[in-house]
Amino acid sequence: MSAAVFHPRTTGPVVDRVLPGAVLPKATDVVIIGGGIIGVCAALAIAARGIAVTLCEKGIVAGEQSSRNSGWVRQTGRDIREMPLIVEALRQWRGMNALTGAETGFRECGVLYVGESSEDEGRFQAWVDSVAHFDIGARIVRGKELSGLMGGANVEFPCGMYVASDGCAEPQKAAPAIARSAQAHGAIVMEQCAVRGIERAAGRVSGVVTEHGAIRCSTAIVAGGAWSSLLCAGLDIALAQLKVLVPIFRTAPVPQGPGPCTWLKELGYRRRLDGGYTINAASGFGFPLVPDSLRFMADFLPLLRREWKTFRPLLNDQSWREWHTPRPPRLDTPGVFEDCRILDPATNSALNARTMRAMAALHPAFKDVAILQEWGGYIDVTPDLTPYIDAVDVIPGLVVSTGFSGHGFGIGPGAGRLCAEIALGETPCVDPRPFRLSRFRDGSPLVLGAEI
Ligand SMILES: Cc1cc2nc3c(=O)[nH]c(=O)nc-3n(C[C@H](O)[C@H](O)[C@H](O)COP(=O)(O)OP(=O)(O)OC[C@H]3O[C@@H](n4cnc5c(N)ncnc54)[C@H](O)[C@@H]3O)c2cc1C
Repeated sequence: MSAAVFHPRTTGPVVDRVLPGAVLPKATDVVIIGGGIIGVCAALAIAARGIAVTLCEKGIVAGEQSSRNSGWVRQTGRDIREMPLIVEALRQWRGMNALTGAETGFRECGVLYVGESSEDEGRFQAWVDSVAHFDIGARIVRGKELSGLMGGANVEFPCGMYVASDGCAEPQKAAPAIARSAQAHGAIVMEQCAVRGIERAAGRVSGVVTEHGAIRCSTAIVAGGAWSSLLCAGLDIALAQLKVLVPIFRTAPVPQGPGPCTWLKELGYRRRLDGGYTINAASGFGFPLVPDSLRFMADFLPLLRREWKTFRPLLNDQSWREWHTPRPPRLDTPGVFEDCRILDPATNSALNARTMRAMAALHPAFKDVAILQEWGGYIDVTPDLTPYIDAVDVIPGLVVSTGFSGHGFGIGPGAGRLCAEIALGETPCVDPRPFRLSRFRDGSPLVLGAEI
């Protein structure tokens, strides 16, 4: 293998690059499958402890969700089960530039959820009360303060829920910066290195088979984002996870635009480091009909019932791909992980144009602002919109960290630390039970997470 940097063609944003490893090691302690924000944060956490770790990424670091997202790092509105982890993640984000010696784009810009009805106000107040003990400064805002936070909006709203200590980072910069820092601590980061499957000996993890050969290891972390369910199928593990397609776009700079990341009923926006805005619709997402839709139908019915206005079923190229993907994946021949280096779904330009018109109607400063780029991203959704971060009890040495359901970028450093601790058998930094794999089968009631 050569260490030449591979330049993929995608419609997605241009991502900062990592100089990948040139030679696949024959053995290591831990293999991480997937170079998104979760995989690179886990790699940094493990390498910083002086433990040998190799990260295998089939395309490029942050080629999928981790560069395509909106970049919010929010506690606001978060499901209570994820609060300890996002508090830990924010603690890490605040020091991330110093730790990595690079610009991740993190800054505390505040996050605002805008309330448009008295029902919203009741929901917001209940959330603010429920997180009071985390002492994050969550509060309800109104009047002049609310209009000030919405800088230049020409509509008045009854209330907002605001957390000034929330922030954002730049998705095209953050994961590559963290990966480079992991490399500086000794991690090996391989790109164009698809993992075809995980091998076992005497029931436990013994190695990982990649397109470039096998690596012996005692621990493997599956951080494959939208691909994790397929990877787990190779081990007879039914990981209930589906894909939801989110269209998104960025604009030209808007010098007088609003500062906080803001979410309304119709759209969400974030000011970027380059002065433009990343904007996406708040609904109108599609979910491709694939074999997993049938396989996991019963698990997902409660969520689909609640979110029927947000998600609509699609028959698209992803449906075609998955109906034609052998399951489990084969170890001895190239397969879908090599065929699809970067999941790069078509966006929805009509929805984006409608969202931009709504943005301009709300903020006149956006009236003649151009959309510079639009793209799509598949988020990996679980039946309760809460991730899986757990050891697989039937396969010692296997850890899963996936299913971040559209809000894994912000929580990434916390989730990376937690799955590293689980993999290394250390005391976890937060209670990991809400993220256990067995929660849909152990008799616990299904509790749907906060809306996407
Ligand atoms: C449009 C959009 C907006 C979003 N907005 C936000 C937001 O504002 N804030 C927020 O917190 N979250 C947001 N999210 C969600 C967030 O981006 C994800 O939750 C997070 O990036 C997930 O990270 P990950 O590492 O689990 O997955 P990914 O970033 O998808 O990384 C998984 C990686 O695994 C690799 N891989 C898979 N299988 C294999 C294999 N067999 N071998 C080798 N490599 C493999 C893939 O190529 C991929 O690079 C958004 C997502 C989208 C799509």
